[in-house]
Amino acid sequence: MKHPKIWLSSPHMGGREQDFVNKAFENNWVAPLGENVDGFESDLETFLGGNVHVAALSSGTAALHLALVLLGVKTGDEVICQSFTFSASANPILYQGATPVFIDSEKDSWNMCPTALRHCIIDRLSNGIKPKAIIVVHLYGMPADMDAIMAVAQEFDIKVIEDAAEALGSRYKDRACGSIGDFGVLSFNGNKIITTSGGGALVCKTPELKQKTIFLSNQSRDPAPHYQHSEIGYNYRMSNICAGIGRGQMEVLNTRVLKRRENFEIYKTELGACPGLKLQEEPSGYFSNRWLSCIVIDAEIFGRDREQIRLKFEEQNIDSRPLWKPLHLQPIFAPYSSYITGVSGHLFNHGLCLPSGSNLEISDLKTVIETIKNKYN
Ligand SMILES: *Cc1c(COP(=O)(O)O)cnc(C)c1O
Repeated sequence: MKHPKIWLSSPHMGGREQDFVNKAFENNWVAPLGENVDGFESDLETFLGGNVHVAALSSGTAALHLALVLLGVKTGDEVICQSFTFSASANPILYQGATPVFIDSEKDSWNMCPTALRHCIIDRLSNGIKPKAIIVVHLYGMPADMDAIMAVAQEFDIKVIEDAAEALGSRYKDRACGSIGDFGVLSFNGNKIITTSGGGALVCKTPELKQKTIFLSNQSRDPAPHYQHSEIGYNYRMSNICAGIGRGQMEVLNTRVLKRRENFEIYKTELGACPGLKLQEEPSGYFSNRWLSCIVIDAEIFGRDREQIRLKFEEQNIDSRPLWKPLHLQPIFAPYSSYITGVSGHLFNHGLCLPSGSNLEISDLKTVIETIKNKYN
């Protein structure tokens, strides 16, 4: 192979992460609490605009689960979830014994369609069921149409969980993604825009909800000298070592966003004019962190389909991935109700995520672009 593997999105350290981790070792704070956990939470609160309260957790999935617990979701409840997403957005609904109901996407943002959402809620209400929560996702870092989603949620008085696992650094009409809904979910898994190796956070609107999140994440220990519990607890708190990595990563988050946006601009310049290829546009007022750059291939015009291009990438040691398979088409979720526009099914069949890491060289991007352009070789 001529070049080392070109990854979709690999960890990219800023340089100071190890200083924070070393300090934790020196002080023996090798535990799920300490200066780095507090410091990382405070960095995130500032970054998100200052009027939020952030609890650092072991994963984004844990944050989604605790948001549902805090909203009182339990057996028999219905929770509405965007269909075009990673399975982790919906799995915690089933952890709670609740029933997911899936909403398809709209064309502009590729995220939850507000019209289908409204239609769904009216339909559920006519069956005598009021959904308990709405999980909306900013997929690939592109914000969902939050004004329209929040308006529908408020009309029917239903709480909104914003899954911003892929969207740290994205903004919707100048508000940070993750800070707009009743709760926001962040992920710092290894392939996200910044990483703590594994980790997540729940963004809360009050200090009380943050404290309650920390309580639940720490096995719900009542204040007593012995171990006493009046509620079910979870082991979901972030470790002080991971949080040290997070503090170092926060110092470079803005430059990571700029580099990913630059990747997208290079792909757009080089591929945007190719007949049969489309890139994801940014609607006006939206600011995407461009976590992953995606293309949609019209095989009849382009002459090659998504799968042919993906296999060609594989041959060239280039990592790429079809867009998320919608949850309403996943075997595990197929039995549940869904409100379909057809948008996510089309994107899944024809879309491909291109290498998008902030540590890619210009030569890597050129290799990707040439591989697509030399489609018949
Ligand atoms: C990564 C991701 C999650 C889960 O985050 P983890 O930290 O991996 O548990 C949830 N939702 C979406 C959309 C994601 O991309």
